[in-house]
Amino acid sequence: MVKISTIGFPRIGEKRELKKLVESYLKNEISQNELELKAKKLKERHWKIQKNNGIEFISSNDFSYYDTMLDTMILINAIPTQYKELGLNELDTYFAMAKGYQSGNKDVKALAMKKWFNTNYHYLVPELKKDMEIKLNGNKIFYEYLEAKKIGVDTKPVLIGPLTFLKLSKISSEESYDEYVQMLTSAYIEVIDKLNELGVEYLQIEEPILVTDLTEEDIKNFKLIYNEILKDESKLKIILQTYFGDVRDIYRELLDLNFYGIGLDFVEGEKNLELIDKYGFSENKTLFVGLVNGKNIWKNDYKKSIDILNKIKKYTLVINTSCSLLHVPYTLKSETKLAKKYKRYLAFAEEKLKELEELKELFCDENYKENSKFIQNQGIIKDKKELAEFQFEDVRNEVKVLKEEDFNRKEKFEERIIKQKEVLNLPKLPTTTIGSFPQTVEIRKIRRKYKNGDINSKEYEMYIKEKIKNVIQIQEEIDLDVLVHGEFERTDMVEYFGEYLEGFLITENGWVQSYGTRGVKPPIIFGDIKRKKAFTVDWISYAQSLTKKPLKGMLTGPITILNWSFPREDLPLEEIAYQIGLAIQEEVLDLERAGIKIIQIDEAALREKLPIRKKDWKEKYLDWAIKAFKVTNFKVDLKTQIHTHMCYSEFEDIISEIKSMDADVITIEAAKSDLSMLDVLAENNYDKEIGPGVYDIHSPRVPGIDEFKIVIKKIIEKNDLNKLWINPDCGLKTRAESEAIKSLKNMVASVKEIRKEI
Ligand code: GLN
Ligand code: ZN
Repeated sequence: MVKISTIGFPRIGEKRELKKLVESYLKNEISQNELELKAKKLKERHWKIQKNNGIEFISSNDFSYYDTMLDTMILINAIPTQYKELGLNELDTYFAMAKGYQSGNKDVKALAMKKWFNTNYHYLVPELKKDMEIKLNGNKIFYEYLEAKKIGVDTKPVLIGPLTFLKLSKISSEESYDEYVQMLTSAYIEVIDKLNELGVEYLQIEEPILVTDLTEEDIKNFKLIYNEILKDESKLKIILQTYFGDVRDIYRELLDLNFYGIGLDFVEGEKNLELIDKYGFSENKTLFVGLVNGKNIWKNDYKKSIDILNKIKKYTLVINTSCSLLHVPYTLKSETKLAKKYKRYLAFAEEKLKELEELKELFCDENYKENSKFIQNQGIIKDKKELAEFQFEDVRNEVKVLKEEDFNRKEKFEERIIKQKEVLNLPKLPTTTIGSFPQTVEIRKIRRKYKNGDINSKEYEMYIKEKIKNVIQIQEEIDLDVLVHGEFERTDMVEYFGEYLEGFLITENGWVQSYGTRGVKPPIIFGDIKRKKAFTVDWISYAQSLTKKPLKGMLTGPITILNWSFPREDLPLEEIAYQIGLAIQEEVLDLERAGIKIIQIDEAALREKLPIRKKDWKEKYLDWAIKAFKVTNFKVDLKTQIHTHMCYSEFEDIISEIKSMDADVITIEAAKSDLSMLDVLAENNYDKEIGPGVYDIHSPRVPGIDEFKIVIKKIIEKNDLNKLWINPDCGLKTRAESEAIKSLKNMVASVKEIRKEI
């Protein structure tokens, strides 16, 4: 009989309990003991829900206070000395690595963060050093297994695999990954031995790195590691789990190794079925078949899934999710405002458990086609295709008739920038921010009140305008050169846009973990996209009316809106991107008409959906993604300055696309990645203006003037002074106001000193 499994479950909780818990611990409002007790309750609830839905392979250790990559660092003692030297207990060392630490004369930055493959989840980047004593250190994985066992759930602990851990780590440029293989293998073996001692039956080792382009060295290292790990006959059965793509580079090697099971993704892994077809699968292994999409929120198409299962049914199968359910919201039950007519097409994490259960039932039923669950599911799948509510023929036509010239501005950059400089008249090294300003509990409360109808639109407008007025004053006091309106009206840079675009559905509680305690609430792209009305212009022109300095209008770009939403699956992404691009174009032109001279179109998430395989990058993504950005602004006057912004930017491999975006100014999140992208831009003759982030806003730490000067001087050395802007990294809204003001003041003061020196 086929069994069912989940790779991982959302850990934040139905009501984002984890966020509140961890934040109160960090604010010293609750003790470690209370944190652990309440977290235990949360974990227990998640295990029970899965058990009640008949899931047979339930994970433990998929929970984390902050990030599972960080958990793994603690587990194998990959803790950089700067954190060890703080002399904190294990939990506080953990949070120091996650968030940085500043107290008395101690001042340590947080580890870098990066996006987890092609998701919007961020992991903390391990820093490996040769003199680290990599060995078994932590006990969370054991502890959680026992916690679950105590309430009668025999779980499979999960663990990020050694090759994935290694390849995502930062090592010094003189070293090669090979040098770390033995160290890591030994530490993992220690972990496995201990799990064995505890009587654990299954262990899920996750190696998503296997779905990326592998080098010979990677394959060699993989074999070295796992030959060693699987050498001893142990009671423990290891499931090698992959996700986010297919394992074309290493499939046959996987079959040769002595795994109990192999987990493959049949949603995003386009070649996995082909591989099985061509090379077969092992008779003595179990295939974990990832069918229920862990990344998108649409109901599973049972016909599609069962067809796949039927093709491989001669093997021992377990029906699985395609990846951890971490990337989808918790439950549709919390969506009280979303109309039933939409909800019926959706499945969040809890509903996906039900789908696994039903798929199992149907797969075991020879007459599944007559099973009412199958019939009902297929009915829903079919009528989504026919739903006419959000089909806009005019938009579809506009997209159809787009031509090459519709992506390019009329004048060249050289010509534009001269005019822009005349209009803007800014000092050297102009200072600015990336858009948002700190959002307090109060603002969030007011926005909620407005949404619930507890205050009317007049009152709301007055409140937001008061905030804008205040932030303009603050920025004038700090003496920034280009101001922003602060984004107070926005819950989130994508959700807010979704609210004003037809074709989007907004959820009430559809939170997904983005990093640590921060969640995002991606809107759902349900149909064709069309702007309802101008929605940023009033706020932004009000802000401009309060200052003589130029005010930078702030928009979210089409690629970021697309990448941070749950996309429909019945239309190519390319077409969705153009639809959004055209809607944003209308907003850009309205801002320009309202007298806004600088418009920033954030493409924070450009890199995020780069296909896993490099050879697909251009054709399957970048070629249209860049055009969707350009369609937003090709119509503006040469005097209007277009900025764009990008997060976590590694440019080396997409430099020609960055150039072709043709933005007059690009601001980039840079503080955490040692400014190396500036070298890349310079080496590639990037000729437009650049604003690298000069400090990391993710940490409450306030950099001093001298620290700023060092960074800024470094930047000047690398780039033409006349093309540089000075700004912090993005996301100021997450900081407390006092922290932001202090840091920005230091930033501006240091620029002023430097201006005198140059
Ligand atoms: N304008 C946004 C901000 O400053 C950009 C956020 C981002 O890059 N993620 O918050
Ligand atoms: Zn950013």
